[in-house]
Amino acid sequence: MSEISKSIKRTVLLNPGPLTTSDAVKQALLVSDICPREKEFGILMDSVRQDLVKIVHGEKTHECVLFVSSGTGAVEACLTSLYEKNKSFLVINNGAYGKRIQNICDRFEISHIDLNCEWGEPVDLIQYESLLEQNTDSISAVVFVHHETTVGILNPLNEISDIAQKYKKTVIIDAMSSYAGIPMDVQKNKIHYLISSSNKCIQGMPGLSFVIGERASLEKIKNLNPKSYYFNLYENYIFQKEQKQFQFTPPVQVLYALRKAIDEYFEETEEGRFNRYSELYKSLIIGLKKMGFHFLVGEKHHSKLLTAILNPKDPKYNFNDMHDYLYERGFTIYPGKGTKEGTFRLANIGALCRKDIEEFLQHLKEYFIKFKINS
Ligand SMILES: *Cc1c(COP(=O)(O)O)cnc(C)c1O
Repeated sequence: MSEISKSIKRTVLLNPGPLTTSDAVKQALLVSDICPREKEFGILMDSVRQDLVKIVHGEKTHECVLFVSSGTGAVEACLTSLYEKNKSFLVINNGAYGKRIQNICDRFEISHIDLNCEWGEPVDLIQYESLLEQNTDSISAVVFVHHETTVGILNPLNEISDIAQKYKKTVIIDAMSSYAGIPMDVQKNKIHYLISSSNKCIQGMPGLSFVIGERASLEKIKNLNPKSYYFNLYENYIFQKEQKQFQFTPPVQVLYALRKAIDEYFEETEEGRFNRYSELYKSLIIGLKKMGFHFLVGEKHHSKLLTAILNPKDPKYNFNDMHDYLYERGFTIYPGKGTKEGTFRLANIGALCRKDIEEFLQHLKEYFIKFKINS
Protein backbone atom coordinates (compact mmCIF):
# COMPACT_ATOMS: atom_id res chain seq x y z
CA MET A 1 0.00 0.00 0.00
CA SER A 2 1.38 3.41 -0.88
CA GLU A 3 1.69 6.20 1.69
CA ILE A 4 -1.19 7.99 0.00
CA SER A 5 -3.62 5.11 0.23
CA LYS A 6 -2.66 4.56 3.86
CA SER A 7 -3.49 8.14 4.74
CA ILE A 8 -6.39 8.88 2.40
CA LYS A 9 -9.48 6.73 2.09
CA ARG A 10 -10.02 5.71 -1.52
CA THR A 11 -13.47 6.54 -2.85
CA VAL A 12 -15.09 5.27 -6.00
CA LEU A 13 -16.68 8.09 -7.96
CA LEU A 14 -19.33 7.01 -10.44
CA ASN A 15 -20.33 10.60 -11.16
CA PRO A 16 -19.09 11.97 -14.48
CA GLY A 17 -16.14 13.98 -13.16
CA PRO A 18 -14.12 14.85 -11.26
CA LEU A 19 -13.23 11.20 -11.20
CA THR A 20 -11.39 8.77 -8.99
CA THR A 21 -7.70 9.46 -9.48
CA SER A 22 -4.73 7.19 -8.95
CA ASP A 23 -2.43 7.45 -5.95
CA ALA A 24 0.37 8.62 -8.21
CA VAL A 25 -1.74 11.50 -9.55
CA LYS A 26 -2.67 12.53 -6.00
CA GLN A 27 0.99 12.27 -4.98
CA ALA A 28 2.00 14.50 -7.88
CA LEU A 29 0.20 17.42 -6.22
CA LEU A 30 2.92 17.55 -3.57
CA VAL A 31 5.72 19.51 -5.17
CA SER A 32 8.07 22.29 -4.16
CA ASP A 33 6.60 25.73 -4.44
CA ILE A 34 7.59 27.23 -7.75
CA CYS A 35 6.91 30.47 -9.56
CA PRO A 36 4.99 29.59 -12.73
CA ARG A 37 7.10 32.08 -14.70
CA GLU A 38 10.21 29.95 -14.10
CA LYS A 39 11.67 28.17 -17.11
CA GLU A 40 11.30 24.81 -15.37
CA PHE A 41 7.56 25.28 -15.11
CA GLY A 42 7.43 26.46 -18.71
CA ILE A 43 9.01 23.21 -19.85
CA LEU A 44 6.38 21.28 -17.91
CA MET A 45 3.57 23.36 -19.41
CA ASP A 46 4.92 22.92 -22.89
CA SER A 47 5.17 19.14 -22.50
CA VAL A 48 1.58 19.01 -21.27
CA ARG A 49 0.37 21.11 -24.19
CA GLN A 50 2.14 18.90 -26.69
CA ASP A 51 1.04 15.63 -25.17
CA LEU A 52 -2.60 16.67 -24.91
CA VAL A 53 -2.47 17.17 -28.68
CA LYS A 54 -0.72 13.84 -29.18
CA ILE A 55 -3.55 12.02 -27.44
CA VAL A 56 -5.82 12.95 -30.34
CA HIS A 57 -3.08 12.56 -32.97
CA GLY A 58 -2.87 16.21 -33.94
CA GLU A 59 0.90 16.75 -33.55
CA LYS A 60 1.31 17.89 -37.13
CA THR A 61 -1.72 20.10 -37.38
CA HIS A 62 -3.08 21.18 -33.99
CA GLU A 63 -2.05 23.21 -30.95
CA CYS A 64 -3.25 23.12 -27.37
CA VAL A 65 -4.37 26.21 -25.48
CA LEU A 66 -4.77 25.78 -21.71
CA PHE A 67 -7.23 27.70 -19.58
CA VAL A 68 -7.53 28.00 -15.83
CA SER A 69 -11.14 26.98 -15.40
CA SER A 70 -13.53 24.08 -15.37
CA GLY A 71 -14.49 22.69 -18.77
CA THR A 72 -17.19 25.26 -19.40
CA GLY A 73 -14.53 27.99 -19.48
CA ALA A 74 -12.93 26.48 -22.57
CA VAL A 75 -16.35 26.18 -24.23
CA GLU A 76 -16.91 29.85 -23.50
CA ALA A 77 -13.44 30.67 -24.87
CA CYS A 78 -14.24 28.97 -28.17
CA LEU A 79 -17.67 30.46 -28.62
CA THR A 80 -16.70 34.03 -27.68
CA SER A 81 -13.47 33.93 -29.69
CA LEU A 82 -14.63 32.12 -32.80
CA TYR A 83 -18.00 33.73 -33.56
CA GLU A 84 -18.06 35.90 -36.64
CA LYS A 85 -20.04 39.06 -37.18
CA ASN A 86 -23.24 38.47 -39.18
CA LYS A 87 -22.73 34.70 -39.01
CA SER A 88 -24.29 32.02 -36.82
CA PHE A 89 -23.20 28.85 -35.14
CA LEU A 90 -25.25 25.77 -35.86
CA VAL A 91 -25.66 24.20 -32.41
CA ILE A 92 -26.86 20.66 -31.87
CA ASN A 93 -28.69 20.12 -28.61
CA ASN A 94 -29.69 16.69 -27.37
CA GLY A 95 -28.84 17.18 -23.72
CA ALA A 96 -27.93 19.71 -21.04
CA TYR A 97 -24.45 20.37 -22.42
CA GLY A 98 -25.76 21.15 -25.89
CA LYS A 99 -28.28 23.45 -24.22
CA ARG A 100 -25.43 25.08 -22.28
CA ILE A 101 -23.70 25.96 -25.57
CA GLN A 102 -26.88 27.75 -26.66
CA ASN A 103 -27.12 29.50 -23.28
CA ILE A 104 -23.54 30.78 -23.54
CA CYS A 105 -24.27 32.10 -27.03
CA ASP A 106 -27.38 33.87 -25.72
CA ARG A 107 -25.52 35.42 -22.83
CA PHE A 108 -22.90 36.85 -25.18
CA GLU A 109 -25.43 37.75 -27.89
CA ILE A 110 -23.89 35.37 -30.37
CA SER A 111 -26.27 34.33 -33.11
CA HIS A 112 -27.04 30.60 -33.33
CA ILE A 113 -29.29 28.30 -35.29
CA ASP A 114 -30.45 25.35 -33.23
CA LEU A 115 -31.03 21.72 -33.98
CA ASN A 116 -32.97 20.70 -30.90
CA CYS A 117 -33.57 17.00 -30.34
CA GLU A 118 -35.35 15.25 -27.51
CA TRP A 119 -32.80 14.68 -24.74
CA GLY A 120 -31.73 11.10 -24.98
CA GLU A 121 -32.60 10.83 -28.68
CA PRO A 122 -29.88 10.46 -31.33
CA VAL A 123 -29.25 13.46 -33.61
CA ASP A 124 -31.46 13.54 -36.70
CA LEU A 125 -28.75 13.73 -39.36
CA ILE A 126 -31.18 14.47 -42.17
CA GLN A 127 -32.61 17.43 -40.32
CA TYR A 128 -29.07 18.50 -39.48
CA GLU A 129 -28.00 18.50 -43.11
CA SER A 130 -31.08 20.31 -44.29
CA LEU A 131 -30.52 23.06 -41.70
CA LEU A 132 -26.97 23.35 -42.90
CA GLU A 133 -28.05 23.46 -46.51
CA GLN A 134 -30.80 26.03 -45.98
CA ASN A 135 -28.60 28.35 -43.93
CA THR A 136 -25.28 27.65 -45.49
CA ASP A 137 -24.46 31.31 -46.18
CA SER A 138 -25.01 32.40 -42.61
CA ILE A 139 -23.49 29.46 -40.70
CA SER A 140 -19.81 29.72 -39.85
CA ALA A 141 -19.37 26.63 -37.70
CA VAL A 142 -21.09 23.55 -36.34
CA VAL A 143 -20.89 23.16 -32.57
CA PHE A 144 -21.88 19.96 -30.81
CA VAL A 145 -21.22 17.70 -27.86
CA HIS A 146 -19.50 14.41 -28.61
CA HIS A 147 -20.49 12.48 -25.52
CA GLU A 148 -23.65 14.08 -24.14
CA THR A 149 -23.03 13.38 -20.48
CA THR A 150 -26.60 14.23 -19.47
CA VAL A 151 -27.88 11.01 -20.95
CA GLY A 152 -24.83 8.96 -21.91
CA ILE A 153 -25.39 9.19 -25.63
CA LEU A 154 -22.51 9.27 -28.07
CA ASN A 155 -23.18 11.58 -30.98
CA PRO A 156 -21.79 10.37 -34.32
CA LEU A 157 -18.61 12.38 -34.70
CA ASN A 158 -17.71 11.23 -38.20
CA GLU A 159 -21.14 11.67 -39.70
CA ILE A 160 -21.60 15.14 -38.21
CA SER A 161 -18.15 16.36 -39.19
CA ASP A 162 -18.29 14.84 -42.68
CA ILE A 163 -21.49 16.73 -43.42
CA ALA A 164 -20.00 19.92 -41.94
CA GLN A 165 -16.99 19.47 -44.18
CA LYS A 166 -19.23 19.08 -47.22
CA TYR A 167 -20.51 22.61 -46.54
CA LYS A 168 -17.02 23.84 -45.59
CA LYS A 169 -17.95 24.64 -42.02
CA THR A 170 -15.66 24.76 -39.03
CA VAL A 171 -16.23 21.90 -36.57
CA ILE A 172 -16.12 22.70 -32.84
CA ILE A 173 -16.73 19.83 -30.46
CA ASP A 174 -17.24 19.64 -26.75
CA ALA A 175 -15.41 16.36 -26.14
CA MET A 176 -15.25 17.02 -22.42
CA SER A 177 -16.20 13.56 -21.25
CA SER A 178 -14.97 11.49 -24.20
CA TYR A 179 -11.45 12.86 -24.77
CA ALA A 180 -8.90 10.23 -23.67
CA GLY A 181 -11.71 7.76 -23.08
CA ILE A 182 -12.66 7.09 -26.68
CA PRO A 183 -9.98 7.04 -29.39
CA MET A 184 -10.21 10.16 -31.49
CA ASP A 185 -8.14 11.57 -34.30
CA VAL A 186 -8.55 15.29 -34.95
CA GLN A 187 -7.25 14.95 -38.49
CA LYS A 188 -9.27 11.93 -39.57
CA ASN A 189 -12.37 13.15 -37.74
CA LYS A 190 -11.94 16.63 -39.26
CA ILE A 191 -12.15 18.49 -35.98
CA HIS A 192 -11.00 22.11 -36.03
CA TYR A 193 -11.50 22.73 -32.32
CA LEU A 194 -11.80 20.11 -29.60
CA ILE A 195 -12.56 21.07 -26.01
CA SER A 196 -11.92 19.07 -22.84
CA SER A 197 -10.74 19.39 -19.25
CA SER A 198 -8.22 17.94 -16.82
CA ASN A 199 -10.66 16.06 -14.63
CA LYS A 200 -12.51 13.66 -16.92
CA CYS A 201 -11.16 10.69 -18.87
CA ILE A 202 -7.60 12.00 -18.71
CA GLN A 203 -7.94 11.27 -14.97
CA GLY A 204 -6.27 14.39 -13.60
CA MET A 205 -7.38 16.90 -10.97
CA PRO A 206 -9.98 19.60 -11.69
CA GLY A 207 -8.81 23.13 -12.46
CA LEU A 208 -7.67 23.20 -16.08
CA SER A 209 -9.53 23.14 -19.35
CA PHE A 210 -8.12 23.19 -22.84
CA VAL A 211 -8.86 23.76 -26.50
CA ILE A 212 -7.05 21.73 -29.13
CA GLY A 213 -7.28 23.90 -32.21
CA GLU A 214 -6.10 23.45 -35.75
CA ARG A 215 -3.05 25.66 -36.21
CA ALA A 216 -4.20 27.01 -39.57
CA SER A 217 -7.58 27.95 -38.09
CA LEU A 218 -6.05 29.52 -34.98
CA GLU A 219 -3.83 31.71 -37.12
CA LYS A 220 -6.91 32.99 -38.92
CA ILE A 221 -8.83 34.15 -35.85
CA LYS A 222 -6.41 36.94 -35.04
CA ASN A 223 -8.64 39.61 -36.50
CA LEU A 224 -11.93 38.43 -35.08
CA ASN A 225 -13.42 40.39 -32.24
CA PRO A 226 -13.36 38.27 -29.06
CA LYS A 227 -15.94 39.09 -26.42
CA SER A 228 -13.85 37.96 -23.47
CA TYR A 229 -10.56 39.21 -22.07
CA TYR A 230 -9.61 36.26 -19.88
CA PHE A 231 -10.88 33.64 -22.31
CA ASN A 232 -9.42 35.20 -25.45
CA LEU A 233 -8.41 32.08 -27.37
CA TYR A 234 -5.97 33.72 -29.75
CA GLU A 235 -4.12 35.74 -27.13
CA ASN A 236 -3.80 32.79 -24.77
CA TYR A 237 -2.58 30.67 -27.68
CA ILE A 238 0.12 33.12 -28.76
CA PHE A 239 1.20 33.79 -25.19
CA GLN A 240 1.55 30.12 -24.32
CA LYS A 241 3.29 29.31 -27.55
CA GLU A 242 5.74 32.20 -27.54
CA GLN A 243 6.36 32.84 -23.83
CA LYS A 244 5.99 29.22 -22.71
CA GLN A 245 4.00 30.53 -19.79
CA PHE A 246 0.39 30.88 -18.77
CA GLN A 247 -0.90 34.37 -19.37
CA PHE A 248 -2.54 34.32 -15.92
CA THR A 249 -1.74 32.45 -12.70
CA PRO A 250 -2.17 28.70 -13.19
CA PRO A 251 -3.05 26.10 -10.54
CA VAL A 252 0.57 24.98 -10.34
CA GLN A 253 0.03 21.69 -8.54
CA VAL A 254 -2.87 20.71 -10.79
CA LEU A 255 -0.54 20.94 -13.77
CA TYR A 256 1.95 18.56 -12.12
CA ALA A 257 -0.90 16.16 -11.46
CA LEU A 258 -2.03 16.47 -15.07
CA ARG A 259 1.51 15.68 -16.23
CA LYS A 260 1.38 12.48 -14.17
CA ALA A 261 -2.09 11.63 -15.45
CA ILE A 262 -0.87 11.99 -19.05
CA ASP A 263 2.09 9.70 -18.32
CA GLU A 264 -0.34 7.12 -16.96
CA TYR A 265 -2.50 7.48 -20.06
CA PHE A 266 0.43 6.72 -22.36
CA GLU A 267 1.46 3.79 -20.16
CA GLU A 268 -2.02 2.34 -20.33
CA THR A 269 -2.24 3.22 -24.06
CA GLU A 270 -5.17 4.59 -26.02
CA GLU A 271 -6.51 1.14 -26.69
CA GLY A 272 -5.86 -0.02 -23.13
CA ARG A 273 -7.89 2.77 -21.60
CA PHE A 274 -10.72 2.33 -24.07
CA ASN A 275 -10.78 -1.42 -23.40
CA ARG A 276 -10.71 -1.00 -19.63
CA TYR A 277 -13.60 1.45 -19.76
CA SER A 278 -15.50 -0.87 -22.10
CA GLU A 279 -15.00 -3.76 -19.68
CA LEU A 280 -16.16 -1.69 -16.74
CA TYR A 281 -19.23 -0.68 -18.71
CA LYS A 282 -19.97 -4.26 -19.61
CA SER A 283 -19.76 -5.47 -16.01
CA LEU A 284 -21.95 -2.61 -14.89
CA ILE A 285 -24.61 -3.08 -17.53
CA ILE A 286 -24.80 -6.86 -17.03
CA GLY A 287 -25.20 -6.40 -13.28
CA LEU A 288 -27.84 -3.70 -13.65
CA LYS A 289 -29.86 -5.73 -16.13
CA LYS A 290 -29.77 -8.74 -13.82
CA MET A 291 -31.27 -6.53 -11.14
CA GLY A 292 -34.06 -5.49 -13.52
CA PHE A 293 -33.02 -1.93 -14.34
CA HIS A 294 -33.82 -0.29 -17.67
CA PHE A 295 -31.90 2.40 -19.53
CA LEU A 296 -32.98 5.75 -20.94
CA VAL A 297 -31.00 5.43 -24.17
CA GLY A 298 -31.08 2.46 -26.55
CA GLU A 299 -28.00 0.31 -25.99
CA LYS A 300 -26.86 0.90 -29.56
CA HIS A 301 -26.27 4.56 -28.74
CA HIS A 302 -24.63 4.05 -25.34
CA SER A 303 -21.36 5.89 -24.93
CA LYS A 304 -20.09 3.08 -22.70
CA LEU A 305 -18.70 5.83 -20.49
CA LEU A 306 -21.86 6.82 -18.67
CA THR A 307 -25.31 5.28 -18.45
CA ALA A 308 -28.60 6.95 -17.57
CA ILE A 309 -30.77 4.43 -15.74
CA LEU A 310 -34.54 4.81 -15.47
CA ASN A 311 -35.70 5.32 -11.92
CA PRO A 312 -37.43 2.24 -10.49
CA LYS A 313 -41.21 2.61 -10.43
CA ASP A 314 -41.52 1.38 -6.83
CA PRO A 315 -42.88 4.31 -4.72
CA LYS A 316 -40.40 3.36 -1.98
CA TYR A 317 -37.53 4.27 -4.33
CA ASN A 318 -35.79 7.50 -3.41
CA PHE A 319 -32.60 8.64 -5.11
CA ASN A 320 -31.24 10.53 -2.12
CA ASP A 321 -31.66 7.57 0.22
CA MET A 322 -29.94 5.28 -2.27
CA HIS A 323 -27.20 7.84 -2.77
CA ASP A 324 -26.56 8.21 0.96
CA TYR A 325 -26.48 4.46 1.53
CA LEU A 326 -23.87 4.03 -1.19
CA TYR A 327 -21.95 7.16 -0.25
CA GLU A 328 -21.46 5.85 3.28
CA ARG A 329 -19.89 2.79 1.71
CA GLY A 330 -17.47 4.80 -0.44
CA PHE A 331 -19.39 4.94 -3.73
CA THR A 332 -20.71 8.16 -5.24
CA ILE A 333 -23.59 8.02 -7.71
CA TYR A 334 -25.15 10.88 -9.65
CA PRO A 335 -28.71 12.12 -10.15
CA GLY A 336 -30.28 12.44 -13.59
CA LYS A 337 -30.96 15.74 -15.28
CA GLY A 338 -33.70 17.23 -17.38
CA THR A 339 -35.08 14.17 -19.17
CA LYS A 340 -38.81 13.44 -19.53
CA GLU A 341 -38.42 10.15 -17.70
CA GLY A 342 -36.60 10.31 -14.37
CA THR A 343 -33.13 8.77 -14.27
CA PHE A 344 -30.02 8.41 -12.21
CA ARG A 345 -26.58 8.19 -13.74
CA LEU A 346 -23.52 6.00 -13.39
CA ALA A 347 -20.22 6.76 -15.07
CA ASN A 348 -17.59 4.08 -15.47
CA ILE A 349 -14.60 6.33 -16.09
CA GLY A 350 -11.61 7.22 -13.93
CA ALA A 351 -8.96 5.15 -12.18
CA LEU A 352 -11.34 2.27 -11.53
CA CYS A 353 -11.03 -1.48 -11.86
CA ARG A 354 -13.45 -4.33 -12.29
CA LYS A 355 -13.51 -5.03 -8.55
CA ASP A 356 -14.85 -1.51 -7.91
CA ILE A 357 -17.82 -2.17 -10.16
CA GLU A 358 -18.45 -5.60 -8.65
CA GLU A 359 -18.39 -4.21 -5.12
CA PHE A 360 -20.65 -1.37 -6.17
CA LEU A 361 -23.19 -3.76 -7.68
CA GLN A 362 -23.11 -5.83 -4.53
CA HIS A 363 -23.91 -2.82 -2.34
CA LEU A 364 -26.62 -1.68 -4.73
CA LYS A 365 -28.24 -5.12 -4.66
CA GLU A 366 -28.06 -5.23 -0.87
CA TYR A 367 -29.69 -1.82 -0.67
CA PHE A 368 -32.70 -2.88 -2.71
CA ILE A 369 -33.06 -6.13 -0.76
CA LYS A 370 -32.60 -4.54 2.64
CA PHE A 371 -35.29 -1.90 2.06
CA LYS A 372 -37.51 -4.23 0.00
CA ILE A 373 -37.58 -1.93 -3.02
CA ASN A 374 -38.23 -3.34 -6.47
CA SER A 375 -35.51 -2.33 -8.90
C1 LIG B 1 -18.30 17.96 -17.67
C2 LIG B 1 -18.80 18.50 -18.94
C3 LIG B 1 -18.69 19.87 -19.25
C4 LIG B 1 -18.05 20.90 -18.37
O1 LIG B 1 -18.47 20.97 -17.09
P1 LIG B 1 -17.62 21.79 -16.02
O2 LIG B 1 -18.43 21.62 -14.78
O3 LIG B 1 -17.55 23.20 -16.46
O4 LIG B 1 -16.27 21.16 -15.95
C5 LIG B 1 -19.10 20.29 -20.50
N1 LIG B 1 -19.59 19.43 -21.39
C6 LIG B 1 -19.70 18.12 -21.13
C7 LIG B 1 -20.24 17.21 -22.18
C8 LIG B 1 -19.32 17.61 -19.89
O5 LIG B 1 -19.43 16.30 -19.64
